[in-house]
Amino acid sequence: MTDEKGIKRIQDDLAGLDFITDPGQLERFSRDFAWFSPVLVKALADKRAQAVVRPRDEEEVKRVISSCVRHQVPLTLRGSGTGNYGQSTPLHGGVVMDMGRLDAVRWIEGAVARVQAGARLVNIDKEAKPKGWELRLLPSTYRLATAGGFYCGGFGGVGSITYGSIGDPGNVLGVRALSMEAEPRVVELRGGEARDLYHAYGVNGVITELEFALAPAYDWHEALLSFPDFMTAVRFAQTLGKASGIIKKLLTVLADPLPQMCGLDKSVPPGQTAVIAIVTATGAEALRELCGAHDGTVVLEQDHAQVYGTPKTLIEHTWNHTTLHILKKDKGITYLQSGFRPWENVEKVEEMYRHFGNEVMMHLEFLRADGALTCSGLQVIRYSTEERLNEIIQYHRDNGVHVANPHTYLLEDGNKGESDPRQVAMKRWLDPQGLLNPGKMQAWDDEAAA
Ligand SMILES: Cc1cc2nc3c(=O)[nH]c(=O)nc-3n(C[C@H](O)[C@H](O)[C@H](O)COP(=O)(O)OP(=O)(O)OC[C@H]3O[C@@H](n4cnc5c(N)ncnc54)[C@H](O)[C@@H]3O)c2cc1C
Repeated sequence: MTDEKGIKRIQDDLAGLDFITDPGQLERFSRDFAWFSPVLVKALADKRAQAVVRPRDEEEVKRVISSCVRHQVPLTLRGSGTGNYGQSTPLHGGVVMDMGRLDAVRWIEGAVARVQAGARLVNIDKEAKPKGWELRLLPSTYRLATAGGFYCGGFGGVGSITYGSIGDPGNVLGVRALSMEAEPRVVELRGGEARDLYHAYGVNGVITELEFALAPAYDWHEALLSFPDFMTAVRFAQTLGKASGIIKKLLTVLADPLPQMCGLDKSVPPGQTAVIAIVTATGAEALRELCGAHDGTVVLEQDHAQVYGTPKTLIEHTWNHTTLHILKKDKGITYLQSGFRPWENVEKVEEMYRHFGNEVMMHLEFLRADGALTCSGLQVIRYSTEERLNEIIQYHRDNGVHVANPHTYLLEDGNKGESDPRQVAMKRWLDPQGLLNPGKMQAWDDEAAA
């Protein structure tokens, strides 16, 4: 923690900027959706910012960086604070910088959008669509989530069934970043170098602008389907996922009793598994045919454009929105994030489903990983103890199912389980004094300790 004088010096340096020290506001700007995890709730309970600053442009961002470096105060960035792992919660106090006012869409030319880091994804899409383009990928929080927050804290979501993750080569073409130095350098990074800031929780550079590759904007069609049996629904989803002629934006499977728990109970009868699909309007007929051939029933259909940007879209029953709806009613649950290997995803899903029964309720999101169709799990877990939660995670890992642990704020544990030397090298270059979001990158702290 920084002493009060240190914070006061920063406040003096930043005269004219929106500088917040009200305790209620500090609490609000220090929290994200880590409350999904009972483990993180405990771990982060007393962590908060000592000041929040809300710059309006890149020059103000530079002033904030410069002052924090000169006074050796930690700086943690925040988009909209919808992250799930305390990513924007400062572990060592200091300043939280809200990037939400850098929200301009700079330009959209052809299939590329250049935006400021604080631009909300929904607003980028709204500008791109009249030009015939749209964002390739959106988290289910797209109405709030910012471009920078999605790139540095997110993974994928709606669109992942076609475009993989936001960190896959070709999805984000470049970023403009500032170094954490008394005289901040501005760097324009392209391709692989830009990807070294992907999913790094803002520990290795302050992004002020991003360039997204766009997708053609189709007429999308949302469908909610109901299946009498979980594995039949999974096989249907696998077949639909592979159907090259049906262009897809989203493909979700929610095992019984999840549809009843997450607010789909008006459409999906008890005992049934739900599938949510968003396909092009031209693919709707083929979707219905495939559904019927797998014993399924179409229970709801709607035009995506009519509901996009509102809570009525089925998007808000997928990805971590499913967990959110359930948690609002039932505080006794938590969740997992898992990845199944493409060559055995259906078999492994069945194995885990049979092994855990209703203790680990199956929520699957179909996606492309390294080009291959597979699914990831956002399983809903009946929480008993941290020990049992760790046993469940370990059982998955022992049986070839990858778990990106959502119950840790450490970058490595929440990701691939190991450090990324390129991310660390980028931190050495752009944050040589380790002042950005300290405590999140284990490899950096280990190196410092050594
Ligand atoms: C209900 C719910 C559903 C969700 N669904 C999805 C989903 O479908 N897919 C998905 O990937 N995620 C999902 N998430 C997680 C989260 O919403 C997304 O990752 C979202 O994109 C985060 O955006 P944000 O602006 O809120 O970022 P924040 O949470 O504010 O920040 C995320 C991280 O990025 C860093 N950061 C922010 N701005 C910058 C910047 N300019 N430069 C450098 N670092 C920066 C922060 O320090 C933090 O570490 C979900 C979360 C919830 C609660």
